Amino acid sequence: MSPEEFRAFGRQVVDWVADYYAGVESHPVRSQVRPGEVRAQLPAHPPEEGEPFEAVLRDLDAVLMPGVTHWQHPNFFAYFPANASGPAILGDLLSSGLGVQGMVWATSPACTELETVVVDWMAELLGLPEHFRTDAVGGGVIQDSASSAALVACLAALQRVSGGEVASRGITRRHTLYVSEHTHSSLARAARMVGIGADNVRIVDVDPGTLGMDPAHLDALIAEDLAAGAVPTLVCATIGTTSTTAIDPVRAVGEVCRARGVWLHVDAAYAGVAAVCPELRWINDGVAEFADSYCTNAHKWLLTNFDCSLLWLADRGPMIDALSILPEYLRNPATASGEVIDYRDWQVPLGRRFRALKLWSVLRWYGAAGLREHIRSGVALAQEFAGWVRDDPRFELLEPHPLGLVCFRPRFPELAAEQADERTYQLMESLNESGELYLTHTRVDGRTVLRFAVGSPQTERRHVLAAWKRIQEAIG
Ligand SMILES: *Cc1c(COP(=O)(O)O)cnc(C)c1O
Repeated sequence: MSPEEFRAFGRQVVDWVADYYAGVESHPVRSQVRPGEVRAQLPAHPPEEGEPFEAVLRDLDAVLMPGVTHWQHPNFFAYFPANASGPAILGDLLSSGLGVQGMVWATSPACTELETVVVDWMAELLGLPEHFRTDAVGGGVIQDSASSAALVACLAALQRVSGGEVASRGITRRHTLYVSEHTHSSLARAARMVGIGADNVRIVDVDPGTLGMDPAHLDALIAEDLAAGAVPTLVCATIGTTSTTAIDPVRAVGEVCRARGVWLHVDAAYAGVAAVCPELRWINDGVAEFADSYCTNAHKWLLTNFDCSLLWLADRGPMIDALSILPEYLRNPATASGEVIDYRDWQVPLGRRFRALKLWSVLRWYGAAGLREHIRSGVALAQEFAGWVRDDPRFELLEPHPLGLVCFRPRFPELAAEQADERTYQLMESLNESGELYLTHTRVDGRTVLRFAVGSPQTERRHVLAAWKRIQEAIG
């Protein structure tokens, strides 16, 4: 594709994306296709000869679009938001255009240095502690996902607790990791991947009222494991669980970790970015004093297209010791001088994209004020929705709901719990099948609960109000 051809098709693609956003509301939110429907319309074999780019765009419209679920639709209230935005899309396009491989500083200095600047900016914007900044012993890095961040945290924790032995000899003792039943599944997967093993993931009780981790039970489990000769290695505290945005008491959990010498990883994948608003910084209480690592996703609620997950470490040393290997073909004077950061030592893959560009575009386009406004509008809409649920006796509202997620369920007083749960699920499916809105569910205290997550920049009050009317109608 010549630069002139690229220019012509590029304009078409940008127009396509702009038209998509302008008309996104005309699509059913959740794709209505059946399994295999998209694949059946695509050729079984790749083309032998090149085709015109128009043919790709034609198939995008005709074949792929019916199979797309519209995460940027204003009536998408499922899971958590996966915000995209104009500046992020354009930043990502520039990153693709440059086609840079930023594995070490020397392979593209700007890729590394811009990343250092934006993660330090983000630490400041979120009110995170000074020692997370790169000038000190800590530092931040952009990962592809919170799952990768958890894996890196586990590797660093194993390094620290074993004095480097795990990196050289492998796991020779029983290591244990601590989560609650509401901790994200990526921690259990990380435990499997690093060789801690699923059986050594200990489930700490939660307070039935707040669903937050019980620090006394955590301490008891650690004591039990120590007595049995195990090596307590990492505790994951969550700020904003995936199920209900419950918040573990990070300070109290951190005190246990500190006393016991266990690594504290804080997973704030969804909620952490809310701390751009000073009035929401209370969610991070205890992080500054106790977190060894902290993760939040710009790619959920902070207007930055997937993938852009931010991981900070209070001390980057154990992570780098765990992951650094210097093969001959990567040796270079800048690395040898020790004056530069090589982010390949801060992640699992070697290669890395110029992800900082899209976050930089977002931060410059919106400014701190614009980001605060975005988060505040999502929180305000969710709170208004929660008020409507509370005022309708046919529904039960789950408390608390401090951010953009509201959990609730219809009461169905005439039905036994199991039938009521079944009806709740059917109600959700009928709404989702209508294509008018999309919500998802979870289980709390053994009961099926609906999740309504607000946070797309496309969502206005009228969309939330219409969704609520539609939910009310559906229960009749
Ligand atoms: C979404 C979520 C994750 C996983 O995020 P990825 O970036 O998709 O890996 C982890 N933890 C929590 C609390 C989440 O909500």
